[in-house]
Amino acid sequence: MLNLEGKRALIFGVASESSLAWAISNWLIKAGSTCVLSYQQRFKSRIIQLTKDVEGIEALEVCDVSKEDEVKDLFNRVSGKFDMIVHAIGYSPASALSKPVIFTSEEDYNTTMVVSAYSLQRIARHSLKRLNQNSAIVTLTYLGATSVVPGYRIMGTAKAALESLVRELSPILGAAGHRINAISAGPVKTLAASGVPGFDDILEYMEKSAPMRKNIDQDDVAKTALFLLSGLSSGITGQTIFVDNGYNIIGVPPHLNELN
Ligand code: NAD
Repeated sequence: MLNLEGKRALIFGVASESSLAWAISNWLIKAGSTCVLSYQQRFKSRIIQLTKDVEGIEALEVCDVSKEDEVKDLFNRVSGKFDMIVHAIGYSPASALSKPVIFTSEEDYNTTMVVSAYSLQRIARHSLKRLNQNSAIVTLTYLGATSVVPGYRIMGTAKAALESLVRELSPILGAAGHRINAISAGPVKTLAASGVPGFDDILEYMEKSAPMRKNIDQDDVAKTALFLLSGLSSGITGQTIFVDNGYNIIGVPPHLNELN
């Protein structure tokens, strides 16, 4: 097991037990790191309940990442430096996810972009002076960034922007000795995923179609996050790494014929 004793993480995006960010926090704590969890106000009671007997969580900090002042205040409230930052945030209003992109309103487009993509830039900017040498940032993206996935709609555009931001931010962070990468996770049942129309059909299709003939789970994502946040990945930055049991390399899924 990786030893992260003495390391400190700031995690954005825990909302429930099923959150990818929660699995990442647990694996980081298991490896010896401590974590500060930032959460959205509407999940406060759930987060208090979830974390109450968990050692290794230093503090719980409320923050809406769509608001510059709230992110600034968060960094002012929490003192000291960090070694690892996790950005596991995605949101698009139901009014946008329920319609084909040609009908997305300007307001819904902006909200989706600010929360799901721009927030990474905002967090990276505020982190910069608060990172120890050789720190790492990880964000979470999805296949909808580069391919059309029914139901994912405007979120695909936001994830494309997010992946581009990872590349654009990498030389800026790199000049200060830090790395930034994205994990493109296969579908996993979480609160955010339940907002994507047709999500259960996608899970069923991926299970049949991926080279490994199964779906991933939260721990698969968390283990790769640990690798990307630790010195084991010291030469990797600006990348999008798929954790999807190989689904992204499939042209025609194997279950369509017997040739495989
Ligand atoms: P989740 O619902 O547990 O997490 C989404 C988080 O975004 C929540 O904690 C929510 O509070 C936070 N959030 C939304 N708007 C916010 C705001 N304005 N300010 C602060 N926080 C805000 O679901 P998840 O699936 O764990 O999602 C985490 C990330 O993983 C997202 O970026 C999602 O797009 C990505 N992802 C998920 C899947 C999947 O199938 N679950 C696949 C690929 C990528």
